[in-house]
Amino acid sequence: MQHVVRAPRSQTLRSRAAAPLAVALLALAVAAPAQAAPANEAVLRAARAQEEVVIRSLGDMVAIDSGSDDAAGLRRMADYVERRLQALDARTERLQPKADAPEMVKGTLTGNGRLRAMLIAHMDTVYAPGILATAPYRRDGNRLFGPGIADNKGGIAVILHALETLRATGWRDYAQITVLFNHDEEIGSGGSGETIATLGAQHDVVLSFEPSPAKAVAGSEGVLLGAAGTGEAFLTVEGRAAHAGSAPTEGRNALVELAYQLQRTADIAKDMPDAQLSWTTAQAGLTRNQIPASAQAAADVRILSDAAGDRLLKALEAKVAEGRLVPDTTTRVRLERGRPPYVAGPKGQALAERAKKIYAELDGRELLFLPGTFGGTDAGYAARSGKPAVLESLGLAGWGYHARNEYIEIDSIVPRVYLAARLLQELARDGAADARTSRP
Ligand SMILES: [Zn+2]
Repeated sequence: MQHVVRAPRSQTLRSRAAAPLAVALLALAVAAPAQAAPANEAVLRAARAQEEVVIRSLGDMVAIDSGSDDAAGLRRMADYVERRLQALDARTERLQPKADAPEMVKGTLTGNGRLRAMLIAHMDTVYAPGILATAPYRRDGNRLFGPGIADNKGGIAVILHALETLRATGWRDYAQITVLFNHDEEIGSGGSGETIATLGAQHDVVLSFEPSPAKAVAGSEGVLLGAAGTGEAFLTVEGRAAHAGSAPTEGRNALVELAYQLQRTADIAKDMPDAQLSWTTAQAGLTRNQIPASAQAAADVRILSDAAGDRLLKALEAKVAEGRLVPDTTTRVRLERGRPPYVAGPKGQALAERAKKIYAELDGRELLFLPGTFGGTDAGYAARSGKPAVLESLGLAGWGYHARNEYIEIDSIVPRVYLAARLLQELARDGAADARTSRP
């Protein structure tokens, strides 16, 4: 998840827009505690038996540097998770969307039921090789620290150990469970997105295991019901070159015009609750003694719906068309859309309601419904076809994503493994079709 860290609950999204990396907790909807059913003792016992093994798995994976551009590290991660899936009797494949690109790992389990479920998490992190030297794997009370431990190696661990928990109980009431671990989520899933979307459409439900905000931050654990789509906006200015010394006025300075348009559009999304734009990169000028004929800037764009993207583009075009500073220059606006927004909708909401009921089985604890984030997640691709019910943030509770003090809360391990295992059981029992209707 392209995250935003540090989220005082009272802060509105807008004031956090400038914050780098984080989960913007739009508003925390505290769900009323459900009438708790008793816990499934067999699953709970098996999940409890996993806790120390999960901690070992986290240590194994955190020890493997796997930044998005670390091909060797990603190959080691792929080897590790493929071995783990094979140990669960999954049939495994390596998927390579682009030649020479790192590989995704797909695992397929077949059972004797009807449910078709896909479980997703990503192997890549934002950290450069060698990060462990300054951000070591360590335990401190209820926290386990390590680069990528929450985002998203914790999610991989919950998937592996929820399947191990179900296997320990002999549960095989599903038609197919597909596990997909991708390699490029932190850089926008340009390689894996289409595969996630295509496979997602072939399943009844997709469970995505990005982290849940730590209880130390949000009070309770939660699941996510919305995430932004990502994109890039461009301003391209054409002017006229001239000698900066002898004939500057012959030129039409594209850099000056760009600076003018950047100022006028910097807060274009200020009053748009479902869109965000931040100019982040720019290029202009080839040599110091030449008036630059062209200049370009690019912006990080977040949109909570496709319509929000349309509105943002229209607003940008209208603003630029209002006027220019340097005569005879032209400014073109372009918006390139990347990862689609994730909107849980009624299907995802029904999944969240189930998850809330299951979590209440564990001493009546609550589960927050996090309405949305301006971070992006692969749940957007998984839900793109509109076919599967999709729920996000089923990974471990943690915080400090993309920062040196990234951690998970150890006391979230058993509940999260239990939740994932029980959710699959419930969906299979009631038939995935029910998950598509909002019957709680
Ligand atoms: Zn992530």
